[in-house]
Amino acid sequence: MKVSRFSFNMFGVNTYILWDDISKEAIIIDPGMINDNERKIIDNFIESNNLTLTHLVNTHMHIDHSFGVPYIIQKYNLQLKCNENDQFLAGRLKDQADMFGLPIAVEDLTIAVNLKDGDIISIGSEDLHILQVPGHSPGSIVLYAPKSGFIISGDVLFFSSVGRSDLPGGNHTQLIKGIQDKLLTLDPDTIVYPGHGPETTIGQEKVNNPYL
Ligand SMILES: [Zn+2]
Repeated sequence: MKVSRFSFNMFGVNTYILWDDISKEAIIIDPGMINDNERKIIDNFIESNNLTLTHLVNTHMHIDHSFGVPYIIQKYNLQLKCNENDQFLAGRLKDQADMFGLPIAVEDLTIAVNLKDGDIISIGSEDLHILQVPGHSPGSIVLYAPKSGFIISGDVLFFSSVGRSDLPGGNHTQLIKGIQDKLLTLDPDTIVYPGHGPETTIGQEKVNNPYL
């Protein structure tokens, strides 16, 4: 499975497109596009690679990961898939924008499909396994591609850091336990593609991450 990363909006969110090179099926994760220019980057990428976007998934519903969600729903006729424990955040995106003092129009959203532990999303011949790792937000999920050997970790695990837990519904103890039980038990060579900043590996974080 191929992985492309885009960095969008004033929070520098990593938006990912994963796709299968044979079937050209693709998934977009955490669409953070905030303006026409950023939306065009995604549209051009999809078009120039002849991709068919078949899934829209959010790792969680913080506003920086959600700016582009309404556009993707409308333009590509997709449903928002996320864990339902973050619906309280999806339904309060306007409040989140106010909290950060953002002078932009956002709309509240509804999670159409609940993703939970054990669920699988197929892209071409590969599977993405859903792992629930709450604590940054109650509904935070990680997508695991065992065949290609990577995870999309959202704001759960970063290069040398972990997600903050001081936002509504956050829980630091739960976050650390989830990372230790569900992520650090993966193969050390597993690549970690986080929601912000550069990629890393499970093995590297096991040794060097000061929070773990
Ligand atoms: Zn977040």
